[in-house]
Amino acid sequence: MALITKSIKGTQDVLPGESHKIQFLESAAKEIAANFGFREIRTPVFEHTELFQRGVGDTTDVVQKEMYTFLDKGGRSITLRPEGTAGAVRSFLEHGLYNEPMPQKLCYLTSCYRYEKPQAGRLREFHQFGVECLGTASPAADAEVIALAGELFSFLGVRGLELQLNSIGCKECRKEYHKALHDYFYGHKDELCGTCQERLDRNPMRILDCKSPVCSAIAKDAPKVLDYLCDDCRAHFEQVQSFLKTMQIPFTVNPTIVRGLDYYTRTVFEFVSTEIGAQGTVCGGGRYDGLVEEIGGPHTPALGFGMGLERLQLLMEAQGLPFPAPETCNLYIASMGDNALQTAAQIVSALRQEGVYAEFDVVGRSVKAQMKYANKIGAKFTMVLGDSELETGKAMLKNMETGEQQEMALDTFEGDFMRLSISESLKDIEALGVDTDIDIDAILNTNLF
Ligand code: ATP
Ligand code: MG
Repeated sequence: MALITKSIKGTQDVLPGESHKIQFLESAAKEIAANFGFREIRTPVFEHTELFQRGVGDTTDVVQKEMYTFLDKGGRSITLRPEGTAGAVRSFLEHGLYNEPMPQKLCYLTSCYRYEKPQAGRLREFHQFGVECLGTASPAADAEVIALAGELFSFLGVRGLELQLNSIGCKECRKEYHKALHDYFYGHKDELCGTCQERLDRNPMRILDCKSPVCSAIAKDAPKVLDYLCDDCRAHFEQVQSFLKTMQIPFTVNPTIVRGLDYYTRTVFEFVSTEIGAQGTVCGGGRYDGLVEEIGGPHTPALGFGMGLERLQLLMEAQGLPFPAPETCNLYIASMGDNALQTAAQIVSALRQEGVYAEFDVVGRSVKAQMKYANKIGAKFTMVLGDSELETGKAMLKNMETGEQQEMALDTFEGDFMRLSISESLKDIEALGVDTDIDIDAILNTNLF
């Protein structure tokens, strides 16, 4: 029965000692998305299987090999979302967001599910930060979406990511290209893997994306989509590049990028790192001008990206980048005896109502063991309460960093402690060389605390 104490292959827990890292990534992503005008959308973890078959494309690896699909008790075919775009677009249609002012800028932080071979940076449950910008065909929007991802990387301090850009054209120019690809791969038909042999007639572009070493070796010399772009697609691609230059976002054109999902048109891009091994693509995205129509809505040009948060975290760890430490306990009140415990509980709860992180003993340990715990959690201040402190109405507050002690009156403790901890914070700020001329009482009288 050891099975029940093991998580499912390809999934991972985020433990309390680590969760601040992903929280930091998530809050940075949300904040930057908000600065670009993207608002959060939340959609269900499962959808009708058909949404992904149609949206992602039934000749893709994701749909053919990787989806978690099952029948629910009502006999419906349900799929755990393998990516975020299809659900966001479904919701956009269902709720008539196309009647709202365009573009609709959506973002999400979401779990995704793919039945893949688990390895570093490749999980069966993983998490994405994604954005979708719906209702604009302008190349400025392509540059804006790319800039958003770039802004997040630079905010986090991530180095060495290469932005690789390509255009895979529209339906029209792709007809010619498909023909050329088909002819090329037909000459190698017997060498291709089984899946690609089947794809040859229906969607030869998918072969370019196949991970089998034989197929990708053959794909290297295949015709390049950039040579087949129509005039409009070529102009669009050139304008995207010119906006990126204006915004000082460096990129390289990589004519082999086609992306693994069927819905892409025109611009496709990836942010790639060489530092985290084979799973180096941290972010991938592009335009999907035909997707909304494909799912049954009005013609709505759009684009977006998905960024793998686990890969981003791996990369940041590999580069030794800092994740802000979580807030530590401001005050721990150790107590001896029932009355002191009651008083400790009372003071702590009053401080918590003021927004202070404070703790007291909820285990029933000796004072010595309580102090050991206070040390372990890194409490900034401690105070010991016993019968004699209750009698005199005074107790010693200890600054755990400096060892300094000072006597505090219990009847005015909350206010005095707030004043003290604000002045400590101001000292920290002044130590950074910032001049603070702040009236602490004025701060305490506002509703900030
Ligand atoms: P890959 O080529 O690595 O399989 P993909 O093209 O399938 O990636 P997308 O569908 O574009 O990936 O998803 C966007 C991002 O989500 C990827 O760039 C990656 O960072 C992340 N991602 C995709 N699949 C996984 C996975 N199985 N585990 C962890 N992260 C993933
Ligand atoms: Mg994949």
